[in-house]
Amino acid sequence: MEASVNPSRNQHTLAVSCEVHGRGYWTGKNVSVAIHPASPDTGIRFLRTDLEEPNECKASVEFREEASLRTNLINGNVHLQMVEHLMSALSALEIDNCLIEIDGEELPALDGSSLGYAQALSEAGLIIQAAEKRRLVVQENVRIERGSSWVQLSPALHGETYFEYRLSFDNPTPIDSQTFGINLTPDRFLREVASARTFVTAEQAAQIRAQGIAGHVTNQDLLVIGEDGPIENSYRFSDECARHKTLDLIGDLALSGVEFIGRAISYRGGHILNGQVAEKLCEMACQQQAGSSERDSGTHQDVPNLRKAM
Ligand SMILES: [Zn+2]
Repeated sequence: MEASVNPSRNQHTLAVSCEVHGRGYWTGKNVSVAIHPASPDTGIRFLRTDLEEPNECKASVEFREEASLRTNLINGNVHLQMVEHLMSALSALEIDNCLIEIDGEELPALDGSSLGYAQALSEAGLIIQAAEKRRLVVQENVRIERGSSWVQLSPALHGETYFEYRLSFDNPTPIDSQTFGINLTPDRFLREVASARTFVTAEQAAQIRAQGIAGHVTNQDLLVIGEDGPIENSYRFSDECARHKTLDLIGDLALSGVEFIGRAISYRGGHILNGQVAEKLCEMACQQQAGSSERDSGTHQDVPNLRKAM
């Protein structure tokens, strides 16, 4: 058995609506995002208010679109770009149900981190709902690989949800190898992860700008890292890059719709690998759900490993 689904906490939604405004990195468009409370089992749903109905796309791995350097969703003609920083904040702050109205395709980049989203959501506050959140307790090591990168899921040591990112590059780069790991809680996310910004090397920034993309993005809108560190900017943490990759990992895995108890360690993973891991989490949850339904239809109602793992 790889895992078990543990419905051990109630679902949450926002106490009141909140808003975030800003410009996207890729499209350069100014967009407004309004995040509203929603009923239990809604999940996270995006509504493109600039499109005619049907204008909805659920934040789910089944609608993930393969893209580099960001996580996009697509449902028919409803496209969304760069959802991962908002998804990370929602997931880490344990907001399970909400409707997100957005009047454009790409989410605001803000300062390249999740901080603006996390602050708006924290200020709105959350309420506890009368339905259980699906939880997956990882019980065996599972490794998902892509080229030389991998993500390993493994059982929790003490009932924690742990994320770790190991960053290193094969080619010479001004970014030092670094590792960041965290037992995720809403407070620790706010303090240690939410403000870690998107980064590119000066070389990558030049390539992107040469393609005529992101011309409005300045060196203060994210970290552009040159030989002597961030250009016209400074690090918020010495390991800010690994922290941002952890932020992305949390956001991308949130597309599984499953909260897991266990450890997720990424070695040089990116959005595409993260998407594969989210699919795997979904699959593990479905298998386990089917398994537990079979068990529940018998006389035995309890799943002993769940209690032990918590
Ligand atoms: Zn990111």
